[in-house]
Amino acid sequence: MRKPTFQASTQLLTLGLSLTARGKNMTVKGEAWDLTPLVPSTKIDKLQALMEQHVKTAEDFATKYKGKVRTMDAKAVQTFLEEYQDNALKREGAFMFARLSYAANSLDPEAKKVADIARRMNMKIRQAQAFIVIELTQLVASKPELIEDPILAEYKHALEITKRKAPFVLSDLEERLFIQKDRYGIDSWAQLQNDWLATRTYEIEVEGEKKIIPFGEIIGLYEHPNRDVRKAAKDIVWTGLSQDEILWASALRAIAGDHLETTKHRKWPSPRTQSLIDNDVDPETIDALMMSVQDHVTLYQRYLGIKAKIMGLPKLGEWDVVAPLPNMPERKFSWKEARQIAIDTYNGFDPELAQIVASMFDNKRIDGVVRKGKGSGAWFSDWLSEKSGFIFLSYNGRLGEVFTLVHENGHAVHSVLMSKAQQPLNTEIGMCIAEVGSIFGELLLVDKLIAEAKTKEEKLEVLAKVLDEFGMSVFQVSARYFFEVDLYDAIERGEYLDGETISKYWVKGRDMMYGDAIEWLPNSKWEWTFKVHYYLPRFRFYNYPYVFANLFVFALYRLYKEQGKEFVPKLKRILAAGSTHSPRELATELGFDIATTEFWALGMKQAEEFINELESLTK
Ligand SMILES: [Zn+2]
Repeated sequence: MRKPTFQASTQLLTLGLSLTARGKNMTVKGEAWDLTPLVPSTKIDKLQALMEQHVKTAEDFATKYKGKVRTMDAKAVQTFLEEYQDNALKREGAFMFARLSYAANSLDPEAKKVADIARRMNMKIRQAQAFIVIELTQLVASKPELIEDPILAEYKHALEITKRKAPFVLSDLEERLFIQKDRYGIDSWAQLQNDWLATRTYEIEVEGEKKIIPFGEIIGLYEHPNRDVRKAAKDIVWTGLSQDEILWASALRAIAGDHLETTKHRKWPSPRTQSLIDNDVDPETIDALMMSVQDHVTLYQRYLGIKAKIMGLPKLGEWDVVAPLPNMPERKFSWKEARQIAIDTYNGFDPELAQIVASMFDNKRIDGVVRKGKGSGAWFSDWLSEKSGFIFLSYNGRLGEVFTLVHENGHAVHSVLMSKAQQPLNTEIGMCIAEVGSIFGELLLVDKLIAEAKTKEEKLEVLAKVLDEFGMSVFQVSARYFFEVDLYDAIERGEYLDGETISKYWVKGRDMMYGDAIEWLPNSKWEWTFKVHYYLPRFRFYNYPYVFANLFVFALYRLYKEQGKEFVPKLKRILAAGSTHSPRELATELGFDIATTEFWALGMKQAEEFINELESLTK
């Protein structure tokens, strides 16, 4: 994933990555990143002084402009935005250093101290800059002609989005009360859900050994090669979660109920509006997308049937859906090999992309080391002032991690291309577009691995991997979308959402996607309880962007297969566009209307081809 700068969530979707290393064979180690180029000095007192200086710059900026933005003309807005961006670029390095050092090693006392200083300084900067959005919104609402002003041409789309938000911004007092209400309301509910989940432990027996492990570790067993272990892990987790149903239901009821109230108070046309604006998409597009998913559920169910056959089962259990295929030779890739695979993967598409990837390795911008105190998951973080970035992952040499490495390098490619072409303000890509470079990169890797596969098993492994991820990102995530729609409808009707009622809606959404293709454990109806995203404050409908991103890229990849080299500059243009255009505009340039189900069917068609290829290997 790409680590967005505007919100704090990590690990939006953890797929294909098992948290526990398996197998007793060779250990493979990744290299560490070098964060020193981010700062002039890594000494704590120097860092603190530097950050204090940045706080002062932000406060001076506020003193200079507060109360004056509302009446600015185009020239003044340009100067204002340039100065704002300039400050943001100047302070980026110090704050990144703090954030990344801590992510890589939260047990390091120095990193902890620096991260703590950075958090406090960052809050001061946010407070100092809170006026910017409010005043800019008011300015654009009262002078919409600024959007078309040639002086502000580079910021046109950013101003359009600001204008779209304008009707829903409340008075200063109301906005402040909202922040206060959230702090001890939905923010606290989310914190409770998160903390409670993080402190749960589960007793499980793995290969004759009984152990008590936390939630974060037991879910790693969902991809364990032993079927009984997977099933037991799921069963133990669901049963454990069901025991705290009152807590989960209270949190979700409060957060969903609060959102519906907020929707009414801000006069958003629907509970989806906030998310649609944030993701720069329109309701017609998302309706077409979700309709296309509903039209293709049998495609996914067909894949699940084929996977069951490969695994020698009449039907998959829920514990088999993302499981590795049995009897696969376990391949390990050294860091050097993975580096070469990543570079070659992009080189096959375009040499400039390969150069960017090579520079990520050569400049030590990737942290692949597994160490105690390192956070889980994998992500990319922009370093806009250097037109580069940093990649975070834990590398053990498995195929899934090679995919992750290629995926995160796709974010790097995207970031470098757009930061070279755009103003920093135009690099705030929404979630629908943020995954284009990365998922496209993964498909290039699929191509390469299939072409080079020496055995049928290697091909099966790669195809099952890409289809497992596609199934989860497109269909399983869609279940969450339909579930969320049902929740707001239920609250609207005055239905009381206790644990059993919420579970009923979860099962409804799930069954819409899976039909009877899967055997579920009785307690799996509690699946909704653990997903941190349902509880994230002010982050409703986080789900459909994943569906969008995957199907969009599958459609682009199909176009690439048809057009070959002619397609290369088209993809590069999309990536370099950053946030200067909406996803719909970007697709229009390619000749597509994404507000039609026909467009989304193209992505499904590509998935169908992978499924056909997989099926032909089983005959
Ligand atoms: Zn990503």
